[in-house]
Amino acid sequence: MAMSFLLKGDVCRPGRIEIEKGMTLRTIVDELGGGMANGKRFKAMQIGGASGGLLVEEHLDLAFDLKALAPLGIRRGDGVILVCDEDRCMVDLCYRLMQCTQEEFCGKCVSCREGTRRMDEMLRDLKEYRLAGACMPRLMGIGEMVSVTAFCALGKGCFSTLQAAYQHFPEEFCAHLDGHCALCENDLRPAIEPGNIPFDRKRIVIDPDACRGCSRCARSCHAEAISGVIKSPFVIDPEKCVKCYNCMDLCAFGAIREVFVDA
Ligand code: SF4
Ligand code: SF4
Ligand code: SF4
Repeated sequence: MAMSFLLKGDVCRPGRIEIEKGMTLRTIVDELGGGMANGKRFKAMQIGGASGGLLVEEHLDLAFDLKALAPLGIRRGDGVILVCDEDRCMVDLCYRLMQCTQEEFCGKCVSCREGTRRMDEMLRDLKEYRLAGACMPRLMGIGEMVSVTAFCALGKGCFSTLQAAYQHFPEEFCAHLDGHCALCENDLRPAIEPGNIPFDRKRIVIDPDACRGCSRCARSCHAEAISGVIKSPFVIDPEKCVKCYNCMDLCAFGAIREVFVDA
């Protein structure tokens, strides 16, 4: 079955896309997205927003298979694929994603709540050339700690993009530590904003006709967003749901799905 994603960023034709099984990442960029905008080179592709991960040019011929890409930190997350061209700064992208995490986490576990706050502060300092080089290991250490101790996929995935960006583009982090990033200083376009709009447009809902009222989803929801009475349809409170998708994977009756609010 095709998967629906929102394609954003530096492609000629951004918008809602349907990804067929086996389609490569290159096909997504070149055919569904109409290729890179303004004749610039592809640099990276961020998939899944705050809890997702980052892929680079060497990954372009891989098939878009969420299970196979999971070891690279890729998750469905917020359902967005963000394409960056050669002139986008990865430090800026990591900072913006951490801002999304700040808006999305539920605050239940200390490691995610406090850890991502510290990461957010440090990434802001790094972006604004105020972070000392000696603090970089601390930033990465906190990210690693959150990724192994957080309760749900949102916290576990919050470090994936930063980790990949640092691995593939260390010179951009060095430039920010040294106080002069040519990418940030020369790129006068508006920044590409990950996450926010599509995250707000999506809801996780329970189909009352398919729900058997087993309560499994409610018992597993860390955000306490699901309620109901046994053997009657359960409901999800959209104000509490952080869209971690745990319940969708758990429901044995396929009763939980995501919907686009404005579709
Ligand atoms: S339950 Fe998930 S979203 Fe909430 S604070 Fe923990 S890791 Fe973050
Ligand atoms: S796990 Fe599925 S069937 Fe059970 S209460 Fe939740 S939505 Fe209903
Ligand atoms: S309702 Fe489902 S998607 Fe939303 S927070 Fe709970 S487990 Fe996660």
